[in-house]
Amino acid sequence: MVMPTLLADRITPLDYTELTNNHVFLKSCSNGYFQQHNTIHHGEEYHHHHVGPSAKELIGNALRKRVENIDHEDCEPGEEDTFFVADLGEVYRQHLRWKRNLPRVKPFYAVKCNPDPMLLELLSALGTGFDCASKAEIEQVLRMRVDPSRIIYAHPCKTNSYLRYVANQNVRQMTFDNADELRKIARFFPNAELFLRILTDDTSSLCRLSMKFGASLDSTDSLLALARELGLNVVGVSFHVGSGASDPIAFYKAVQDAHVVFQQAAVHGYSLKTLDVGGGFCADNTFEQMAGVLGAALDEYFPAHSGINLIAEPGRFYASAAFTLATNVIARRTIQDSELINNGTTTPDASYMLYVNDGVYGNFSSIMFDHQNPIAKVLRAGGQTLYNTPAAEGMDDESGVEYSIWGPTCDGIDRITLSIRFPVVLDVGDWLYFEDMGAYTKCSATTFNGFPNNHHTTYVCSEPGARALLGM
Ligand SMILES: *Cc1c(COP(=O)(O)O)cnc(C)c1O
Repeated sequence: MVMPTLLADRITPLDYTELTNNHVFLKSCSNGYFQQHNTIHHGEEYHHHHVGPSAKELIGNALRKRVENIDHEDCEPGEEDTFFVADLGEVYRQHLRWKRNLPRVKPFYAVKCNPDPMLLELLSALGTGFDCASKAEIEQVLRMRVDPSRIIYAHPCKTNSYLRYVANQNVRQMTFDNADELRKIARFFPNAELFLRILTDDTSSLCRLSMKFGASLDSTDSLLALARELGLNVVGVSFHVGSGASDPIAFYKAVQDAHVVFQQAAVHGYSLKTLDVGGGFCADNTFEQMAGVLGAALDEYFPAHSGINLIAEPGRFYASAAFTLATNVIARRTIQDSELINNGTTTPDASYMLYVNDGVYGNFSSIMFDHQNPIAKVLRAGGQTLYNTPAAEGMDDESGVEYSIWGPTCDGIDRITLSIRFPVVLDVGDWLYFEDMGAYTKCSATTFNGFPNNHHTTYVCSEPGARALLGM
């Protein structure tokens, strides 16, 4: 693999507006995703690129190549470890999907969701901004030579020393939601460009945030008065409807409230210039509906002629579907229904507990922290690679063999799947895979019990446009 730090030197960041002004030709399939390779239209004519292998073929080949080279009978410790295959083409398609649905809103990718260096390189080349919440995240983005104006320090409760750090680095945009924070900013970075983060109704989201962050509309007026008194520079309003939002009305209501705060700010002499609509966008087919409601609210309250800049902080939207995880079966326990044991042999009704080398303390941390339910599929069983075949899929009916799937640590809570049925018999050394493992997985994995969290990632890219940007 080419080191991302080397790549950074060769990538010329694209101007975001330049990219949005080009016509983008998309061929969408029924589920709203794009299957064909997309062609960006330059001027009048456009060229059809050679249609290469599909995303599934590329991911499947990368998975196959690695697992077929590992023999659990004689490999070195760790060679059979969990690994990821990342399709950067998926990130590129999501970016086009974003621009098609929210053309006025510039995304600032939420780094915490997945700080994978190649993912960040591609987003940087695509011209997105970045939402960071700590010194390390800001450092990582600045190291890619991203201009500080493309970063928002979107944490309403910042560390003093980090504030001094961003003042030094000229990362000016940041959020606040309380009076103590305003006084802190007045002390350490009085020239910062401030976004007042307001409370939203997040009851329908997977990860609620409003009990921790956000100013209620009762307090925004006095906060703006205090900011004025302290001589601070308030430039916008931000909100976050909660990570994994499912109710588009939450976006509508939040835009409406933000508009109220814009008017309050005007009374205090602030001419706000930016609205930040936060994150929470899911990558599934609810996105189009969300974006439709949000876009309509923006057109109503912040129309194009208002001249207000619109930004957002999507995380999972970009990252989740791009990463597929493969994990190895390290142990198996056979469970016999005692009624069925007659002659000591395994009856067709036997079920199994599978122990794999990744779990909730590892990349399946998303089960605990992000309320996810990753779906197991069979990658390799009995010497056959089954990726993307019917035999890989869990079965809906009562046929097949029943499994529960457990992580490698000694903790009983470390369970991935309570019950799933596969048409094949799995044993030690076989592999499972899980799709949509890009968001809030690796970033919150621990090394509890001595199991590693620095797993290998193989990068593929199913979009020629993204390959060109990355020099792949
Ligand atoms: C986590 C977070 C995001 C990203 O949320 P997603 O659900 O991944 O889109 C955006 N903004 C802020 C302030 C966050 O804390």
